[in-house]
Amino acid sequence: MDTVYFDNNATTKVAEEVLEEMKPLFCQLYGNPSSMHTFGGQMGRKIRQARQQAAHLLGCEPAEIIFTSGGTESDNTSIKGTLAAAPNKRKVITTRVEHPAVLAACRDLENHGYTVVELAVDKEGRLDLAELEELLDDDTALVTIMYANNETGVIFPIDKIAELVTGKGIVFHTDAVQVIGKIPLNLSKSNIDLLSLSAHKLHGPKGVGILYVRKGTRLTPFMVGGHQEAGKRAGTENVPGIVGLGKACELAAQNLEEENSKVKYLRDKLEDALLKKCPGSRVNGDRENRLPNTSNISFEYVEGEAILLMLDKFGICASSGSACTSGSLEPSHVLRAMGVPFTSAHGSIRFSLSRYNTEAEVDYTIEKMPPIINRLRELSPFVAG
Ligand code: PLP
Repeated sequence: MDTVYFDNNATTKVAEEVLEEMKPLFCQLYGNPSSMHTFGGQMGRKIRQARQQAAHLLGCEPAEIIFTSGGTESDNTSIKGTLAAAPNKRKVITTRVEHPAVLAACRDLENHGYTVVELAVDKEGRLDLAELEELLDDDTALVTIMYANNETGVIFPIDKIAELVTGKGIVFHTDAVQVIGKIPLNLSKSNIDLLSLSAHKLHGPKGVGILYVRKGTRLTPFMVGGHQEAGKRAGTENVPGIVGLGKACELAAQNLEEENSKVKYLRDKLEDALLKKCPGSRVNGDRENRLPNTSNISFEYVEGEAILLMLDKFGICASSGSACTSGSLEPSHVLRAMGVPFTSAHGSIRFSLSRYNTEAEVDYTIEKMPPIINRLRELSPFVAG
């Protein structure tokens, strides 16, 4: 079997249709959208079309969309841009399980005199909304809470949180990078002020994303320079990327149903079989409120990296909940925040599927995985003989 790609939360294959839309924009239609000539002007129309395609998927106005270089920029702009627009407020609330694009940006604020509160999660990865409500005060400039977790797929009740936070006059940002195209969104019916997304998680190209800014939200631009993106994000537009992102949004809107049914069916089949065939395994995170494509499973007493290496020999790509940093194996901050025991956190594997996966790939992985776990357990110093 060729490569079996179960690492779609890391990045996705660019859809053929997306690539086809992008191709002419490199060597044929390469003008600068800001130029006065007709050739450049054509690019402006392409960008307008992409903005409409994205707005349709998100259920918002095209004017509420700013194209950025990806999720990291959208997150940083939301955080820093909101604080710059509210210089008298010094408190930010986030969670312990955010992506580093949010966590690092927030932690850096502490060096600049801000108070940053990181909300805890329970063992299923869920938040306590009563705790959040108590923390909201006049000094709070921003609450930034991810829509769904990239490691576990756990979905937070974002519409409820947005209502709570904005009801107190506080700006609410959500990192929805893992959500777009997997579950439906309708921003016109939500109180979210700012939302980040990234094309490469959506079968679009890398290096391009969206920052949704609700009309009327105060945000100081982070990137200054030219007048692109209505003065909200300077820099010559990544036209091929933006066009690709627009097409990816159009396809995502068409494929949402499939993502929710076929992808979920494959994920559940894989997960149920691995839990059954591998003793000492468990799912990390709330299984009810979860992205349809993500499964994070801990295999007790084995190293995630060792599992990945052995899966890799069979051409199976997944990812581990633990990151190897400077020779010491640190379990994932998300699993640690959930209180997953050390012996489980180290042996966690994330499978993240897409509409391009097949049942044959799932069956192949179900066949290969249990002998890998058994073999590693035999070698494990943690398992009593
Ligand atoms: N936020 C989340 C939840 C992510 O999963 C990622 C990417 O892994 C990012 C932000 C960063 O997005 P980008 O790679 O487009 O900068």
